[in-house]
Amino acid sequence: MKTSPMNQPANGFRTPLENATLARFGWLIGMRWIFVLAIVVGAVAGRSLLLPELPVVAILVIASIVGLFNLVMQAISVRLPELKPARRQALIHLLIQTQVVADWVALLALIHYTGGVESPLLHFYIFHVAISAIFLSPRFTIVGLLFIMISMSMLFVAESSGLIPRVVLAGITLEDRQLSPIYIANFSFWYFSTLVIMAMLLSAIMRSLRRREREALRMRVRLEEANLKTSRISEERVRLMHTMGHELRSPIAAVVSMLNALMISSGPDLPEPVRRIHDRIKQRLDDLTAMIGELLELAERRRGSDGGRIRRVNLCALLASLCEELEARVSEAGLSMTRHCSSHGDFWISAHPAHVRRIFENLLSNAIKYSRTGGEIHIRSHEEKGRLHVEIQDEGIGIAPDQIDRLFTEFYRTPQSRRHTSQGTGLGLTITKELIENAGGRIEVRSEVGTGSVFEVILPLAESRGD
Ligand code: ADP
Repeated sequence: MKTSPMNQPANGFRTPLENATLARFGWLIGMRWIFVLAIVVGAVAGRSLLLPELPVVAILVIASIVGLFNLVMQAISVRLPELKPARRQALIHLLIQTQVVADWVALLALIHYTGGVESPLLHFYIFHVAISAIFLSPRFTIVGLLFIMISMSMLFVAESSGLIPRVVLAGITLEDRQLSPIYIANFSFWYFSTLVIMAMLLSAIMRSLRRREREALRMRVRLEEANLKTSRISEERVRLMHTMGHELRSPIAAVVSMLNALMISSGPDLPEPVRRIHDRIKQRLDDLTAMIGELLELAERRRGSDGGRIRRVNLCALLASLCEELEARVSEAGLSMTRHCSSHGDFWISAHPAHVRRIFENLLSNAIKYSRTGGEIHIRSHEEKGRLHVEIQDEGIGIAPDQIDRLFTEFYRTPQSRRHTSQGTGLGLTITKELIENAGGRIEVRSEVGTGSVFEVILPLAESRGD
């Protein structure tokens, strides 16, 4: 997996916040259409109803220029998705800046035609400075503020000195006297201070938000790297398990056949102690072969081998056939086994048949292996809320509460089970749990040392019954 450097994530944008900012491009265009409409309606209605001196032509010209500009922006925005991400990002930034500057200039002209220092449109600058502080860089906002302050001061001075004619609107502006320089200076001071404080506040909030987002992004990249490392380690582990299994299998098979050959060539008069040692060696080699088989099975499964087609499996029938197969082992161990399917042998699940067989084979052989002579094994199945519950209960050695969670860890065997029998690999339950989870189910264990254990498998039932 490829990771991108912190300041340049794969999609070309820096943080989700900046991505969201760029998505506001279309929003700015929409807002400008509303603004143009409001200016046109306001100018025409204001002139005919309240303000006969309102220079409606000049205002409509400005509204038309803004409208034309917005049309161009809209046309460009339609083409944006065709551009490559990096170019699109740079262009959107530039276009947002152009729009903000164009809005400032248009607003300055409108302020002049609606009463200058007394224009009600002065409030719109607050809104524009907020947009700049939120969406654009602090540097751009500072330059913008300087532009607004210088250009507005020049406008106020030119109007009050009579350099350009001041628009006087009866009822809105002071009619019969020129505005005093003190009034203009006082107004400008408080107005500009408001803009500067607001811009500083918003920029500081946005800076800290952006910093936090970058930190979150950095953490995400680190997390992804750690995940990558973990999955590489586990791949390596599986590869090792696989190689080790294959490498060990042939020498052990050779030792078993040599041992058999040795026994045959030694003839029937072998002393009893030698025969006993032979049997123990043979038993140990069989255990080792079983362990290698399970190790290879686990490695294959973790490599993604899927075990064939998913089919509908009649679980009660499968349990019945398994019980039949295990009958000899059960009676040899001096045990008895009962089976009860609450649905007259008609529970259907969708799974790999070989996997389902493996799950219950493991659990039943454990129940036999860890039972004591005379014990009973009960198999019960029932349906609950659309799920199949199969319980395998034994009256065997049991498991201590603190060991239950570790049962599904590779190679784990409880101290009681080690004392009870040397046979066992500690891999069967790991395989069983993975198979159950792959089939969308789970396994639960209840047990008491010396009394016995219940292994409960919960699997989703197939959608409709029958074959
Ligand atoms: P093993 O080949 O050792 O039986 P498993 O993975 O099947 O390996 O089981 C892991 C361990 O869980 C066993 O070694 C045993 O300690 C414990 N265990 C499993 N089933 C039972 C059971 N029915 N009763 C008591 N202990 C059990």
